[in-house]
Amino acid sequence: MEIAAHPDDIELWCGGTLARAVDAGAQVRLLLVTSGDKGSADPDADPASVATTRENEAREAARVLGLADIAFLRWRDGEVENTHELRGEMVAWIRAWRPDVLFTHDPEHPEPPYLRHRDHVVAGRAALDAVYPLARDPLAFPEQRAQGLTSHKVGEIWLFASAVANRAVDIGKTLEQKIAARLEHESQTSDREAMIARWRKRAFQTGTPFSLTAAETFTVLTID
Ligand SMILES: [Zn+2]
Repeated sequence: MEIAAHPDDIELWCGGTLARAVDAGAQVRLLLVTSGDKGSADPDADPASVATTRENEAREAARVLGLADIAFLRWRDGEVENTHELRGEMVAWIRAWRPDVLFTHDPEHPEPPYLRHRDHVVAGRAALDAVYPLARDPLAFPEQRAQGLTSHKVGEIWLFASAVANRAVDIGKTLEQKIAARLEHESQTSDREAMIARWRKRAFQTGTPFSLTAAETFTVLTID
């Protein structure tokens, strides 16, 4: 399971890894906190239609990556807060989808450290709070039992956009699939060729310290 702040977040940081997981037989499901309704340079754009466009793009990108499911919490872009309500929504989806592994933004050591998007840090922190201990503890959000949502223990958390990453994944076989997924976000793409070149270079630079031609990196936490 993946919890990300915006519709085009996962492709950059873990699209290649998720595609690899799907190839290996995993079922991957994506929960998006916002639908990116601020994602337009046009001051006259309607945020609701921006969100609709971006949800459709996210569905297409998810299809390219082979994801099994995608759901939207529809918090306002740029206004995500780590509240009881948000944590409860995340806990409900964790209890519904029951993942072994959860991917989300590194909220404690974000990369880049200063100019990171606030939603990334808040969504990542709320996701960690939702996994541990809330989704695990049956007395947290007990009203969810009435909907058949029982407690669930996640085994590992893989944090992306992490300045202290300790795990590299070889994405040599899925790099082009990752880029193709990103290009489905047409409203967020001005120069396709420049983006393709930039993303190939980034994957190469990330892999170089690990002797890989293309990589994504993570901070992996094991929950006992
Ligand atoms: Zn984002």
